[in-house]
Amino acid sequence: MDNQKTIAREVSLEGIGLHTGNKTKLIFKPAEANSGINFVRTDLAGSPMIKASAENVSVQLKSPRRTSLGKASAEIHTIEHLMSVLFGLGIDNLIIEINNKEVPGMDGSGLDFIQAIKSAGIKELDNPRNYFTVRDPIYVEEENASLVALPFDGFKVSYTLNYEHAFLKSQFKSLIIDGISFESEIASARTFCLEEEAQELQQQGVGLGANYDNTLVFGKGGVIKNRLRFEDECIRHKMLDLLGDLNLLGQPIKGHIIALRSGHALNLKLVKKILRQKQKAMSGGIAIDYRPVEGQKLEAVDIMKILPHRDPFLFVDRILELQPGKRAVGIKNVTINDYFFKGHFPQRPVMPGVLMLEAMAQVGGIMMLSPDANRGKLAFFMAINNVKFRKTVVPGDQLIFEVIAGKIKSKTGQVSGKAYVDGKAVVEADFMFALAGPNES
Ligand code: ZN
Repeated sequence: MDNQKTIAREVSLEGIGLHTGNKTKLIFKPAEANSGINFVRTDLAGSPMIKASAENVSVQLKSPRRTSLGKASAEIHTIEHLMSVLFGLGIDNLIIEINNKEVPGMDGSGLDFIQAIKSAGIKELDNPRNYFTVRDPIYVEEENASLVALPFDGFKVSYTLNYEHAFLKSQFKSLIIDGISFESEIASARTFCLEEEAQELQQQGVGLGANYDNTLVFGKGGVIKNRLRFEDECIRHKMLDLLGDLNLLGQPIKGHIIALRSGHALNLKLVKKILRQKQKAMSGGIAIDYRPVEGQKLEAVDIMKILPHRDPFLFVDRILELQPGKRAVGIKNVTINDYFFKGHFPQRPVMPGVLMLEAMAQVGGIMMLSPDANRGKLAFFMAINNVKFRKTVVPGDQLIFEVIAGKIKSKTGQVSGKAYVDGKAVVEADFMFALAGPNES
């Protein structure tokens, strides 16, 4: 069995932040199973704790070229190299006390963090590790970059780097990552930038703690005032960054990550996409992470952004009208090709009544979860009352569902629905839903 790990005893280290130039001290402390990686800003009143997870990542625009956490007014910048080391060594649980706002850059790689953790010793806990296993391909892309996660028994990263620079033309590296390969191949690769960027970045107040020792600066003639640790040190560093960002998923991964020119923003996009899919898959409920506009019409592609349901369990073709939290009208064109007619009275095809209720509930879910206050929540059936089936529905019918909100509270929602064919009511029902936050159920 593969168990969770923390460190055996406290250890500290000090250094200068690459971007802020601030001198900072870190203290690593052992943590309980299932607690994850948590930073504590000991220099701020109340010593706020910020979990290293995707939901606490602060906006990239505010802090370019690094991965940062933010919660209320507490920020922690440039966590990626440290997070990468924790990923590589399989440290699942750790408290990191920090007395300033940026994790020190050390030598620009993960080397000092590895040494600190190893000097503290790694301790195995009694609880098993909980892996996220990639079962279907998941991908995200931006202009010139893409990132794909594929099923794989183990964990592998394949990276392709390609910059418009003589010394950073296309490099490719593929590696099965475990504690040993991480330490020997990835951990000591240092951060880098191009000479022409360096000045511009420092003018923007970025890279104030960077120098030719902790950052590889590539000029026309190659690396300035430094020597490479590996011929392909840059691609190894990009892999280091990627692993650190993936660690914000909050659990270890089984899969093969294929990255093309990917950086922090895209890495985080993948993590968030995985989290959304996980949430939907686990819930079997209705979740919404999309901001509908008042009175908006939604086509099938938009509906699929909202509902986790897919063929054969998506029963809404289009939303004709949406007043978030108040009312929605959806349609379903019933055709002989709908799979349920195969087994439901094939001689005399009739749409099953429970599927009409499900379809109505799907329209209700879209309406109920679209206001800001309920975004990110999941809806589960608690009760269905006052169901009346008035007419049978057959292939060729167009079902129109109208749902109206009753009492919507923070944890429950009442919805009344009616379905019509050709203006005549065919079914009506009152639904009671439980509304749960993404981590409750
Ligand atoms: Zn980096």
